[in-house]
Parts: sequence; C-alpha cells; structure tokens
Amino acid sequence: MSVYRDNAVVLGSYKFGEADRVVVLLTENHGKIRAVAKGVRKTKSSIGARLEPMSHVDISLRSGRELDTVDQVKLIYAHQRLRDDFDRLRQGLSMVEAMNKITPDREPVQHLYELLSRALHALDERPAPLMLAAFFWRLLSIEGYTPQLDVCVACGEEGELVSFDVVEGGAHCGSCRTGVPISAPSLAIIRLILGGRMNEALAMPESMAVNEVNHLAMEAMEAHLERRLRSLGVFDRHL
Ligand SMILES: [Zn+2]
Repeated sequence: MSVYRDNAVVLGSYKFGEADRVVVLLTENHGKIRAVAKGVRKTKSSIGARLEPMSHVDISLRSGRELDTVDQVKLIYAHQRLRDDFDRLRQGLSMVEAMNKITPDREPVQHLYELLSRALHALDERPAPLMLAAFFWRLLSIEGYTPQLDVCVACGEEGELVSFDVVEGGAHCGSCRTGVPISAPSLAIIRLILGGRMNEALAMPESMAVNEVNHLAMEAMEAHLERRLRSLGVFDRHL
C-alpha cells in the first residue's frame, strides 16, 4: 500500500470499531478523504488531538481500498482563537459541515480547499459578523448558484427588488414577490461579497442588513444542500 502526503483541513470524524475513528479530511490535492485513525479512542492519543474539526494538518496517509489509514500527522494551525470564542467556533463548524456535505469523496477540489482554509484563517484572525455568510455565498457561487441580484429573477424587471427567493435563486420585484423580504442595503452587501470586494464586506459591523444577509445565506445554503441530497438520491449519509 502506498503512502502519500498532503495538506488537509479536518472536516469531522466518526467512531469506527472498538478504538478507532474515521477522520474526514479535505485535502489540498486528493479531495475529500476518509481515513482510519487507529487507537485514538483508547488512549490519550496525540494523533487524535491533532485531528479536531477545523484543524489544518500536514498528513501522511496509507491508501486503502475503501478507507485510507492515518500514518503521521503534523498540526499546522489549530485555529485556537477561533475555538476559544463560541460564536466563531459555531461559524467555523458550520463551514466545515457545509463543506463536508458538498464535496464528493476522492475528487480533487483545490478551489474548495483554498476557500475553506482561507476562511478558517480569516475567522481565526478576527471576528467578522459577515464571515460565515460570505463563505456560504462564495461556496454557492463556486457550486454554480450565483443569485440574480440585479433584475427580477422571475420577470426581468429592472426596478426596485423587494424580496429574495432561495429556491428560484434571486431577487424579485414587487409584482413577483415570493420568498423573504430583502432591503436594498442587503442586496448591496451580497453584491460586494460576490463581486470580490470581500474585505469591505468583512469589515462591516453588525446591522439590520448584515443580519438579513446572514439569514439569507443560511437559507440559501440549506436549500442548496437539500437540492443536492435529492439529486444524489441520498438522504442519510455519514456526517
Ligand atoms: Zn418580477
């Protein structure tokens, strides 16, 4: 069996057998990998401590037919500040959870690895009310779900847009309104995020519009995950 080495972000883990865990990793070059970490539940294993969700590791893996096996792990970033702050911890865990649901096994997704590792670094550097929403909107856009924000997604009307429909994937005019109400400032924030002006968005303090954008991002991500599960015909997957 061959051993390979890669950078990875830990997405999660689950119990396996008597003493082992399966760790789910988003690697830089090999996509999402499930690997058995042997003996981590029996003793105070140092390997186990390095494989907490959100940790950024340099890992050696022994390839197997279905599951790989963890050979060696070096912790690169634990993202400790993020872990010590409940709100940031919640945001970071939501990021790895969404990424876990979206990525297929063993299919290289370097752009997603980069998006996730940058977002976790940024979140560890400083709190930002829009961090998770920005991550979700960017992830959706990479997945091909860029919302229509400039004209009504139903009729093409260029006038005032008053609501947002996550299923239809965009804003609606007054005559077509479905979904939830959206304000002009919120639309402007989503345009900033998707237009690549991320730093401006992340510097924004809490506000009504920021809360609205956060809420919409959660809804849009949930709708996307449901759509995806339905299209795969899978309703009950591990993690
Ligand atoms: Zn319309």
